[in-house]
Amino acid sequence: MFIDKTEIYIKAGNGGNGCVAFHREKYVAEGGPSGGDGGHGGNVVFEVDTGENTLLPFRYKHKFVARNGEDGKPEKFHGKTAEDLIIKVPQGTLIRDANTGRLLYDMGEDGRFVAAKGGRGGFGNVHFATPTRQIPRFAKGGTTGEERNLILELKMLADVGLIGFPNVGKSTLLSMVSAAKPKIANYHFTTLSPILGVVKVDTSAFVMADIPGLIEGASEGAGLGHAFLRHVDRCRLLVHVVDAAGTEGRDPIDDIEKINRELAGWSEELADRPQIIVANKCDVGVPDENRERLEAYAEENGLQLFFISAATKSGVNELLYAILSTLSTLPERKYYEPDEIEEVEETEGERDFTVEIEEGIWFLGGDWLEKVTSSVNFEDRESLAYFHKVLKNAGVFKRLEEMGIGDGDTVDVCGFEFDYVK
Ligand code: GDP
Ligand code: MG
Repeated sequence: MFIDKTEIYIKAGNGGNGCVAFHREKYVAEGGPSGGDGGHGGNVVFEVDTGENTLLPFRYKHKFVARNGEDGKPEKFHGKTAEDLIIKVPQGTLIRDANTGRLLYDMGEDGRFVAAKGGRGGFGNVHFATPTRQIPRFAKGGTTGEERNLILELKMLADVGLIGFPNVGKSTLLSMVSAAKPKIANYHFTTLSPILGVVKVDTSAFVMADIPGLIEGASEGAGLGHAFLRHVDRCRLLVHVVDAAGTEGRDPIDDIEKINRELAGWSEELADRPQIIVANKCDVGVPDENRERLEAYAEENGLQLFFISAATKSGVNELLYAILSTLSTLPERKYYEPDEIEEVEETEGERDFTVEIEEGIWFLGGDWLEKVTSSVNFEDRESLAYFHKVLKNAGVFKRLEEMGIGDGDTVDVCGFEFDYVK
């Protein structure tokens, strides 16, 4: 089973809650506030695993949840910050938001992407002692870790893609020119997942991919073809292998045209990708007719053509030099830029909030409010002043006044409590 597209759910850890506690000492009736901060929740982070080239590990595991930060403890002990949850993916994995389809990140060579941020730990009450409030009986709750549904899609990063019908000798060629160990067998569908090999030529090198055999009707989604076309998409150069000897009774030109139709069915751009034609299995003996027609075809279409035997390596060196010099004229590997986020203009109406009164405490809630609150540093005067201004502009104070709030009443904004001063 070959997996190159999958949907997963990720959730970063929540921040631990701040602690409310008071320092206790013998002979001291009530000490100062001593509740420690909560630890931060773990992020969910994607990293590249160079040894992996399928998304197979995601076949059974679809849920990834990072740990929560620990709650703060008395005696100024801070809760432990949780470790990040690292998800390893093959190079060339595209990470998309499953709900919007937006491309978030293209995992390049040393790609690292924080896909969900952990919640911040809440301050313990040790932070909230002020000259006027010597005994702070509140602490701040940790914020919730981000969660999202993602689509992982693998589009391999290789310079050269080997394409062609099954059994024409693609895997044999790759195994002869690189250290890669693709399976070689005399039956169709020998290669079920793309295999990458580094091909060294003198002091240069390029990455070559053995793309599993394309089958007819692949571009219409028949059989395995579609998944493979995805991988060809990023190759800078296609090496189109045919069985010049026609050992299976097919016509090599016919093969080339069929595969090219599959490419064009996937995308025009892919059909226009530079190609080199490799006429393989020459050791078996190439019928004159095949040789002439292949030469005429190459000439007509302005393509380079090489007669080789992957089995005996005859003609292979010339091919490698030609690949190298062609690559030097082609654009760099293709990376995808993350899609832009559309700026949503904020209007007063979107700054909705709720007010609920319970046991004398005025609870304010709302998504927007939660975001603002989690970004405020309550120890910092300017940050607090900003917070005050935002609440005022959003009409929070006005609403509270209208609802009859009294001087000194307790207001709870998303877990953070303060006294209302008229
Ligand atoms: P793929 O499906 O295109 O990857 O083809 P393979 O590399 O698995 O080869 C299919 C069969 O053709 C195997 O039995 C190979 O040993 C054989 N083969 C590959 N290249 C050559 C060649 O140059 N000469 C001969 N005689 N046989 C070859
Ligand atoms: Mg193969």
